[in-house]
Amino acid sequence: MSDGARACDLDGILAGDDIEVVESEVREPGYTACLVRPVPDLPAGIMLAPDQSRGRRRFSVAHELGHYHIPTHQGIATGWCGDADMTAGAHGGNVREQEANDFAAELLMPRHLFSQDARGRDPNFREIGELAQRDMYDVSRTAAALRYVEVTQSACSLVCARDGIIEWVAKSKDFVYRIPWRGDPVPAESHARAVFNGEEASEEAEPLDPYAWLEIEQRQPVELFESTLAIPRQSQVLSLVWVVSEGDWV
Ligand SMILES: [Zn+2]
Repeated sequence: MSDGARACDLDGILAGDDIEVVESEVREPGYTACLVRPVPDLPAGIMLAPDQSRGRRRFSVAHELGHYHIPTHQGIATGWCGDADMTAGAHGGNVREQEANDFAAELLMPRHLFSQDARGRDPNFREIGELAQRDMYDVSRTAAALRYVEVTQSACSLVCARDGIIEWVAKSKDFVYRIPWRGDPVPAESHARAVFNGEEASEEAEPLDPYAWLEIEQRQPVELFESTLAIPRQSQVLSLVWVVSEGDWV
């Protein structure tokens, strides 16, 4: 597929719904995004925290559109949605926030279309970056990586750590290995640790000792690769941890 029609027209949807998007003048308003439901004589609005990258901003808007449109969210105060709400699902979290994220992911990266584009791409942030580009899905690399892990046939995990501590982990369906979990420090031998220590992140998948990430008791015939992405503004490092087992080489 290369018809170019991938990024959805959020502005068109907002205009159709008569929803105005307003950026907060307060630097840290306490939310990432917030839906203001319509009242008589006043249309609905979406308030956004300032300084969000274009991709994050699009996901934040799509998430609030989820709260606006999902029937079971009607009449319920969904409140202020923070950064953790925008990734609810990857780490459990409130069901309504997960539903809003599912809505946003499907709106911005329709599963059927995205699966076709992800096929044949290895788990690394160079490939993810191509999917996230403005002329593709026009989303953040975090959002594209989360969607990739949902649809890929590769055995991989997306790990998000802040200040050296794992915040959430999303595994692909074929990733059957135990790895450190939420609240654990990133492993000492991982590339993520090296990035926290000041080394450059690598968007290409680099090989490393499987024991660096995998909690396996016996050495298994697998190869491990890790690609990293630093997000300094949020003190985060994302890792794509990819396991290739012997059978995959045949
Ligand atoms: Zn929300």
